Amino acid sequence: MAELETAPTPLPEAPGDRPGPQGRTAPELPAGLKAEGVAQPSVAPTEPAVPSDARKEEVGQVAWKEPPPTPIVGDFDSPPEMPITIARLVPKLKKSAKLFAEGKQYVPNASSSLIRVASYDPCPPFIARGKGARIWDEDENEYLDFNLAYGCLINGHAPPDQVRAIVEQAEKGLHFAAPTELEIDVAKLFRRLVPNAERVAFCSNGSDATMNAIRIARAVTGKDAILKFEGHYHGQHDYALISAEAPPIVAGLDEYPRPLPNSAGIPPGVTDYVMVAQYNSIVSFERMVKRYRDRLACVILEPIMANAGVIAPVPDYLKRIVEIAHQNEILVIFDEVFTGFRVAPGGAQQLYGVEPDLSCWAKALGGGVPISAVSGKAEYMDSIAPGRISFGGTYFANSISLAGTLANLKHLARGGEELYARFGHLTQKLEKGIEQAARDAKVSVLVQSVNGMLQYFFTRRKKIQNYREALQIDWNLYLRNHQLLLDKGIYTHPDNYERITFSSAHTDKDVERFIQTIGETFVELKTLPRDYLA
Ligand code: PLP
Repeated sequence: MAELETAPTPLPEAPGDRPGPQGRTAPELPAGLKAEGVAQPSVAPTEPAVPSDARKEEVGQVAWKEPPPTPIVGDFDSPPEMPITIARLVPKLKKSAKLFAEGKQYVPNASSSLIRVASYDPCPPFIARGKGARIWDEDENEYLDFNLAYGCLINGHAPPDQVRAIVEQAEKGLHFAAPTELEIDVAKLFRRLVPNAERVAFCSNGSDATMNAIRIARAVTGKDAILKFEGHYHGQHDYALISAEAPPIVAGLDEYPRPLPNSAGIPPGVTDYVMVAQYNSIVSFERMVKRYRDRLACVILEPIMANAGVIAPVPDYLKRIVEIAHQNEILVIFDEVFTGFRVAPGGAQQLYGVEPDLSCWAKALGGGVPISAVSGKAEYMDSIAPGRISFGGTYFANSISLAGTLANLKHLARGGEELYARFGHLTQKLEKGIEQAARDAKVSVLVQSVNGMLQYFFTRRKKIQNYREALQIDWNLYLRNHQLLLDKGIYTHPDNYERITFSSAHTDKDVERFIQTIGETFVELKTLPRDYLA
């Protein structure tokens, strides 16, 4: 455990809890639509929610500004009191709120992917269009996009060459569900960009890729169990959705984390096949390998942890994982769904010079079209064959996705090292800018990043190296700060375990605007009365 840093000025206390183990998976409604909007101040009755002028001076707060009158739209109950950060968004998101209310009559939670609505308050902006680094919502609010469809849009929104390639392909035919030359062309370029990809097979999303990679590992080793790490997210299939979130009170001690299903509906027997260790600890990995080596087909990991903010591997960690696994006849699967084509074209394995047996790719591979891939050594991949290992799907390697992917990869190949150096430059610039803004505002903020991906946490920790340390952050302050950023036109995700990302469409100026804006939000955050932060 890393030591705590002495904070310059303590922030108001807030519980900072993540919305529980179901945060990603259960229908967690945005707080403003259930409790928050109607919650009464939680402070003692002697302490008014909105401080009197005398009290304001005493606690050193700037003058309280009344939130603007807030027309109530959609299906909101009239909240007697609403956090200022949310109140400010309500009049801006009128059409989004209306669509949110209407959509719930047709689609559960008004969105087919829960993470797109969970944590948003008062409602998620419904996005109408995007170009380059910018998006516009249905109310015509403009945002600078640092979420980029969860890291997919490595070349920004609607890059002209990619759009052209998709349209040209659409005119020839959308999909044939037959082998195509286009598939071979994408595979060739993929292999040029990813050093270890002797073979590559395409599928539709990250979950498909991890599901298939795990199956291949089980088949070729003849073993059934898998080892994963607490807080690592590998998608929505049953074997992946274990201990992506794991509150320690039920997950047990660090030494022996208990595998926890993260959704209702996962049969209890699944956890018999999933072992869990702590990321960034070789001791923890060795302990599990020693105990279960005869049962473990593979270890699957995010080489750079990207689902608890950004957590880089400690030096030599990935190398040691591969060595220990191979000594024990366990395959290594790198889940590069987030890191692939982002931190380097060949993902974390290229950045750190490590060679896994199998790898999973998605997000920045397609740059906005639905595609994913499993790649790896021919010796394993060629076991995909009739009567041996099954692999397939009606929409796998469809022509529209392939055309979009080819254009996306060509763009990255043309950009080459210079482009990736630029991602690094923008990442570093934002990291330093956020750190300086936090020092200026006297808030305790930790920033962690790797080329092209970054996250900041309200915490006094000097570093975060695994999931359990990542729980020691002020979740609520992040949420409030996100609302302030959104109000000022910076689009990030309200979930602190998502990340900030960059595209080739982002400029130094865009990053400077982010820094300037977050400087303002940090200052304002400190002026908010304590009960609005809780
Ligand atoms: N693996 C990682 C590391 C991810 O970050 C994700 C999604 O966020 C997945 C797998 C699942 O990918 P998808 O949502 O495309 O199924």
